[in-house]
Amino acid sequence: MNASITVALAGNPNAGKTTLFNYLTGARQHVGNYPGVTVEQKEGCCLHRQQGLRVVDLPGTYSLTAYSVEELVARDFLVNEKPDVVVDVVDASNLERHLYLGCQFLELGVPLVIALNMVDVAEKRGLTIDTEQLAQLLGVPVVPVVARTGAGVDKLLDAVLAVAAAPERPKPLFLRYGSDIDEALADMLPAIRELQPLTGVYPERWLGVKILENDEQIVEKARAANPEAARRLAERGDEVVRHLQNTLGVYPEAVIADHRYGYLKSIMRQGVVTRKWVADRLHTSDRIDKVVTHRLLGPLIMAGVLFALYTFTFSYSTVPVDGLSFLFASLSQGIDALLADGPLKSMLISGVVDGMGGVLGFVPIIMFMFFGIAVLEDSGYLARVAFMMDRIFHLFGLHGSSVMPFIVSGGIAGGCAVPGVMATRTLRSPKERLATLLTVPFMNCGAKLPVLTLLIGAFFSAHQARYMFLATLFSWIVALCAAKFLRMTVLRGASTPFVMELPPYRFPTLKGLLIHTWERTWQYIKKAGTVILGISILLWAMMTYPGLPEERTAAFAQQRQQAEATLAAVPEERERELARIGAEEAEAGLRHSIAGRIGTACEAVSRYAGIDWRTNIALIGGFAAKEVIISTLGTAYSLGEVDTEAAGSLSERLRRDANWNPVVALAVLVFIMFYAPCFVTVVCIAREAGSWKWAAFSVVFNTLFAFLLAVGIYQIGALLYLR
Ligand code: GDP
Ligand code: MG
Repeated sequence: MNASITVALAGNPNAGKTTLFNYLTGARQHVGNYPGVTVEQKEGCCLHRQQGLRVVDLPGTYSLTAYSVEELVARDFLVNEKPDVVVDVVDASNLERHLYLGCQFLELGVPLVIALNMVDVAEKRGLTIDTEQLAQLLGVPVVPVVARTGAGVDKLLDAVLAVAAAPERPKPLFLRYGSDIDEALADMLPAIRELQPLTGVYPERWLGVKILENDEQIVEKARAANPEAARRLAERGDEVVRHLQNTLGVYPEAVIADHRYGYLKSIMRQGVVTRKWVADRLHTSDRIDKVVTHRLLGPLIMAGVLFALYTFTFSYSTVPVDGLSFLFASLSQGIDALLADGPLKSMLISGVVDGMGGVLGFVPIIMFMFFGIAVLEDSGYLARVAFMMDRIFHLFGLHGSSVMPFIVSGGIAGGCAVPGVMATRTLRSPKERLATLLTVPFMNCGAKLPVLTLLIGAFFSAHQARYMFLATLFSWIVALCAAKFLRMTVLRGASTPFVMELPPYRFPTLKGLLIHTWERTWQYIKKAGTVILGISILLWAMMTYPGLPEERTAAFAQQRQQAEATLAAVPEERERELARIGAEEAEAGLRHSIAGRIGTACEAVSRYAGIDWRTNIALIGGFAAKEVIISTLGTAYSLGEVDTEAAGSLSERLRRDANWNPVVALAVLVFIMFYAPCFVTVVCIAREAGSWKWAAFSVVFNTLFAFLLAVGIYQIGALLYLR
């Protein structure tokens, strides 16, 4: 057997690369219906006529510009690894559009074979493609295949071997881009030749085209190779830009793209495709789209579908969620019964079991949510949602695909930022993705709801629903504005043009949905699980240590003894008194703990927002999980542990407390809505953004931002109402 040949599979999203890859390598992969699912590079191998082939599934791209990570990854692979053959998988039923990428491969001069995929679909649509004519005109082999069944794949591999055996790599395709650009490219060639190491890697004229397209990566590399030549090239480029702006009012990118399409159009005209009219799935898709993306009906249907998804996720998942919390409660009780009181028991219950409960408690929600998203994605509807939302989201520097993460995180009120952050994977541009995942925690997740309800009920109104609606609206406004702010500052950059195609609707398969769901859920368990246990134990320790000094513990013990003695005859009253003493001891212990000291120290700052040390402790606890805010407030106000049902007494207590009033309540409420995400979310942000830097950023940025809002509210409110 000869040394293995490297074959890269490239093509537009949804062209069928992954399907072909699976057929070739037999590896199990997931097959999505949403453009851009294949973000990772997958590898496998196969054998054809005694020849070993190393097959790489490149991410789906529409072009080879530097708009998205996928495009950069694909391009870098092609130029750096120089695969022996590139198989461009194109959708035969969408030939012209898919060949746009193929055209760029030709311009780059890679050894190319075109796999004309989905010829079955094309046939059903009444399209006949003259492959020989197409191959002749493009100058590369074109092989019709059906990746789903494997038809034609043998011939494809024959063509691959033939191309691999060619003695030389092909010459880059010389396209004309119109006189202005052609002239500029000719002028630029001498300076391009001075970019020494680069010219060995990329074709010369191609480099010129990229510089005219203002391709960040190439411009950067040119500057590193030869700053002086790069400056001259940039100057000549600017001249073209100015000239084209003056004459045609467009940028060079657009002119270059027009000429590529023109080239393809001229090929298409030469009898490559013949069409006869047939009623089929694509036409059905078009008909469905007439209704589903209709100006007025579309948004209504979308609201209905999103609401259904949301109801599905959060109402059906309550069964397993309740089951899990019952399980963890029993586990706590078991430990409680087995072990003697002491730090070990306290750590196991409050640190380990609660921490694991925190992680695993999300699992059913995540599974349901991802299942729902998988249905929308695999059926093709998610692309329509993104398509409809794109115009609005664009105004805020986001992308149509950002809508799903926001809704999952609580955009309709009640949700969870953890699956929300993970749902940002459908976004292809890194900056838009970061802006989305940094702002989704601003939504009102399910854990914030009880706290908001408590405060609204205690200080504002019995009409909580109306106020909750306002809070939800406010969270959207703030999140979108924050995204805009980020996109204008730390995440500045052009927004990606919306080039997503609307794939035809398909019936998702159950197997596909389950694999999809499980892959993502497992990733969550694996990624979040490890760190969370550690932080949970750390927070427990902060709220427990150092314990009360001995004489104070002794004083509480004495009080207890006294109560036992004097109230022995009235057991009911004795129980109540003992509970009161216990709660007071818990309060004293909390105040004495590290968290309590931090809370007290923070008062120096937090009082500008009217927030006292007790609330500070609750807010620190809220970093563990926002649910903890209520129970910690309960402890800090010596009510003992308070759960959501018993929150009535806490709301009474707060209303009567001298430190609290409606202005403070509003400041606290807004602070809770927008401050640091809970640490499970922070861990996920770190993983998804690929660095702890962004996780830290989200903690600091959100907290500062929330604090400034709270201070503003408190100061203005105090001026107006508290005199
Ligand atoms: P990728 O985005 O390029 O990786 O595309 P996928 O491999 O995920 O394929 C997208 C969809 O097209 C899937 O639903 C496949 O089952 C389907 N598909 C792929 N190849 C063919 C084919 O030759 N014929 C038909 N009818 N469907 C195909
Ligand atoms: Mg794929």
